[in-house]
Amino acid sequence: MAFDPNSVLTVQPIPGLPDEVNQIRLDTADIVANRIIPLENASWRDESTRKAYQSIVAEVKERKLWAPHLPVEYGGNDLGFLSHAYMNEILAWCGMAAPMFGVVAPNSGNQKVLVKYATPEQKKKWLEPLVRGETQSCYSMTEPDNAGSDPRSIKTSAVKDGDQWVINGRKWFTSNGIRADWALVMCRTEESDGAGGVNEKMSQFIVPTDTPGFEIVRSVPVWGRDGSHCEIIYKDVRVPLDNIIGSEGQGHAAAQERLGAGRVYHCMNSIGHMWRAFDLMVKRAIERDVYQGKLEDKQFIQGFIADSYMDIQASRLMTIHCADLMERGVDARTEISAIKVFVPQAYHRVVDRAIQVFGAKGVSSDTPLAGMWLGARTLRIADGPDEVHKILIAKNVLDRYHDGLSWDFGVC
Ligand SMILES: Cc1cc2nc3c(=O)[nH]c(=O)nc-3n(C[C@H](O)[C@H](O)[C@H](O)COP(=O)(O)OP(=O)(O)OC[C@H]3O[C@@H](n4cnc5c(N)ncnc54)[C@H](O)[C@@H]3O)c2cc1C
Repeated sequence: MAFDPNSVLTVQPIPGLPDEVNQIRLDTADIVANRIIPLENASWRDESTRKAYQSIVAEVKERKLWAPHLPVEYGGNDLGFLSHAYMNEILAWCGMAAPMFGVVAPNSGNQKVLVKYATPEQKKKWLEPLVRGETQSCYSMTEPDNAGSDPRSIKTSAVKDGDQWVINGRKWFTSNGIRADWALVMCRTEESDGAGGVNEKMSQFIVPTDTPGFEIVRSVPVWGRDGSHCEIIYKDVRVPLDNIIGSEGQGHAAAQERLGAGRVYHCMNSIGHMWRAFDLMVKRAIERDVYQGKLEDKQFIQGFIADSYMDIQASRLMTIHCADLMERGVDARTEISAIKVFVPQAYHRVVDRAIQVFGAKGVSSDTPLAGMWLGARTLRIADGPDEVHKILIAKNVLDRYHDGLSWDFGVC
């Protein structure tokens, strides 16, 4: 893919941010702008590109930016939630940057779950090789025959048999399934709903992908492209009792924690993509001659610039507000749902305008815009569709009013 190299990432300290967070932004931008973006057009078949990749990873580790989401004892740098969120925005400038910083879904989400819920033995066996980049993982929750937006409908079962769990079911859209050495699989561990509700009947298991009965049916093509989103049959898959992560019934709670933080990271990622699209669009408007003038002189195009500016700023302020609340331990479930709806839609609008400004080149693969446009649309479904999050926002607001309170936008 021959991307337009017409992008310069410039980052300045943000007044009021803690010095260490500003420094992390500047260091991240330095590596992305000066070392990674210049490689965007390089071929991975070249030995020199592979060597450059390794030397960038070494520099990221030396500058203590590797795996910002993980504690130092597991090979990360524990940079804090807000710093990681700001980093994601910059990493999104270039598709190949995140893996070079050790933050790539679904591995990073699985790592967080293992840090919190795994036993010391499980951490040694599954987490540490994953952080070192020696293994790959996937997250297997959604099922073709049950509504993914209602996780209580999961039917894949895990039943104890002697010293093993026996897993049966069918999943799909298990991203990275093709490459994974193990899957973190959400299962129903009891049939009846019982006390505590159906959420407490869900448990998560590690299933090595070479276990008999683990069968990849296909990689589901997305937007006409083959990817790594796998449909998988689990047929009498037997794993040791030790492969449960956390205790029985903790699967739903662990998934919610993972998805909450993940949504903030995804949104910062989307904001980084918007920023790159905006940068490409503005430069194109300044350079492109049309009808005896430049595109930048046309009011339609000025409107695109202004609308995109507002979409990006609104997305950033909402997401950073949410990250800030989470860093301070405030319950931010409503804000998480709000950004999960707003940011992908804003992302889609910004990229769509940028494509329009580029004309035919915008839908070609000579810029990253076409890929971003498809990605933005997908984000309105993955990790919970818009409608489900809007229902949650309205429910939380209405509950508060029924309690005789109003909504305090600064805190709630
Ligand atoms: C690219 C991609 C990658 C993914 N990666 C993973 C992964 O790695 N692991 C994994 O487990 N899953 C993954 N998913 C699955 C994703 O989480 C689900 O697609 C999502 O949760 C929605 O579930 P569903 O597709 O079954 O839609 P359904 O639940 O069938 O919903 C369909 C539509 O119904 C509407 N709807 C749903 N509920 C309501 C309601 N209460 N009121 C009104 N309307 C409603 C919404 O418009 C929704 O889009 C991925 C999906 C995509 C697209």
